[in-house]
Amino acid sequence: MKIASRVVVVVFDGLRPDMVTPAHMPHLAAFAADGLWFRQARSVFPSMTRVATSSISTGAPPVVHGIVGNSFYYPEVTRDFVLDTSLAEDIALAESRLSGPLIAAETLGDRLAAHEKSFAVVHSGSAGSTYAINPRVAANGHWTFSVMGREATRTPHAVDEVVERFGPLPPRTLPRFEETDYVTRVFTEHVLGEMDPDVALIWFNEPDTSFHYRLLASAETNAIMSAVDVALARILTAIKRRPDADEIAIIVASDHGQISSSGVADLATLLTEAGHKAARASSRAINGADITVTGGNMGEIRIVDGDMARRDRIARWLMQRDEIGMVFTPSDDPVHGAVEGTFSTALVGLDHPRQPELVYVLRSGTGADAHGLPGLGLITGGVPIGGGMHGGLNRHELNTVLILGGAARGGTPGLSEAPSGIIDIAPTVLGLLGKAVPTSMRGTNLAEIEARRQPASVSTLETGVGAFRQQLSIARRGNQLFLIHGGRLST
Ligand SMILES: [Zn+2]
Repeated sequence: MKIASRVVVVVFDGLRPDMVTPAHMPHLAAFAADGLWFRQARSVFPSMTRVATSSISTGAPPVVHGIVGNSFYYPEVTRDFVLDTSLAEDIALAESRLSGPLIAAETLGDRLAAHEKSFAVVHSGSAGSTYAINPRVAANGHWTFSVMGREATRTPHAVDEVVERFGPLPPRTLPRFEETDYVTRVFTEHVLGEMDPDVALIWFNEPDTSFHYRLLASAETNAIMSAVDVALARILTAIKRRPDADEIAIIVASDHGQISSSGVADLATLLTEAGHKAARASSRAINGADITVTGGNMGEIRIVDGDMARRDRIARWLMQRDEIGMVFTPSDDPVHGAVEGTFSTALVGLDHPRQPELVYVLRSGTGADAHGLPGLGLITGGVPIGGGMHGGLNRHELNTVLILGGAARGGTPGLSEAPSGIIDIAPTVLGLLGKAVPTSMRGTNLAEIEARRQPASVSTLETGVGAFRQQLSIARRGNQLFLIHGGRLST
């Protein structure tokens, strides 16, 4: 049943739902109080932006869309370096070597195009994130603007149009105040005011960027949270002014949360010292290494020298290290990995043909950071100590903002504790417009009453070997698993 004439989606990258308070974000807090807030909404694993964006566009976990990390080794594309999905040139290389799309699964954009619905996106993230939200934007006849410029979108005419109307693209500063203001103007005046698409989506790169480099809940970060909150107010005002305001559905979401970093474990160096010559993904070269390693607060380890017994040795070595929180290996078993003590990658929806041989998550906990926020863990590097990170399975990385408002609210405001997540966004948009959801999408239409009343049934799985014990809590909705929290048991 069609509920809305149009849908507006607002995404705040990295926003934690426990930071949506009247003090930090009064406009979003008021929107949430008047809307339907899915308080247990979850990201996917790895809880990284391009993985999550692909899950938003395809309505499914990585097992379906194949973006198994922000960076991942993909030998069918290149054996020279680890693919970085933030880069337009790496995506272009992949598509040329594969003679096909990097994200092959049907997306929201594809389905909207099939129904001759228009879809406009205003994006301030990387070229790769901008790609992933609507990979076939040009073929779909849609419109994607990137504040990063013409090279960061596959519809560069969108950038030309915007620059002609609004002037030069803003300077990149930290926090990203100028970009926030610019994209908000483009979205309210150009997209909502002139283009009037069936579905409009804006992706703010904040507060994620400031969380990483200026710490969660610092004065500077609070200032940019305030700025994106005001941006939301401007968007809501632009919608309210329209004569058809009551028919417009609004979804406010984030792609993942963040936790603060407490220290560094330089895993690539430790692995090299342990006899496994490791190439870091960031080095953009493999140079005869035995393995490749991606970092952050979790990552993949690929065996590139063909010695598969090495995989088992590394897995056992990882589980003996204090810095390690969780270890996953591929397996036919839905819970247990191929190496004793590891979980199966299938348990976390990562068992795509592109999956790595080994996935590690560094140790994290729910203790308070310097600003009193819960969630603290080790990183391999990449941000200053104390800076935010995400990718792992800590509840504060996985819990996302997901709020339905306007015509999507369905009459009854409130909180829902139902299992839900970013994979539900595309099915909800389609459902609101009265369109069927493709079978490849694992999410559901949250605007339907049954979805919001689903009781949460959380179960906790445990495995390990020797002193290493790891746990993962999951909520089930039919056959779909939502990842609640994972980590190592303290011993
Ligand atoms: Zn993100």
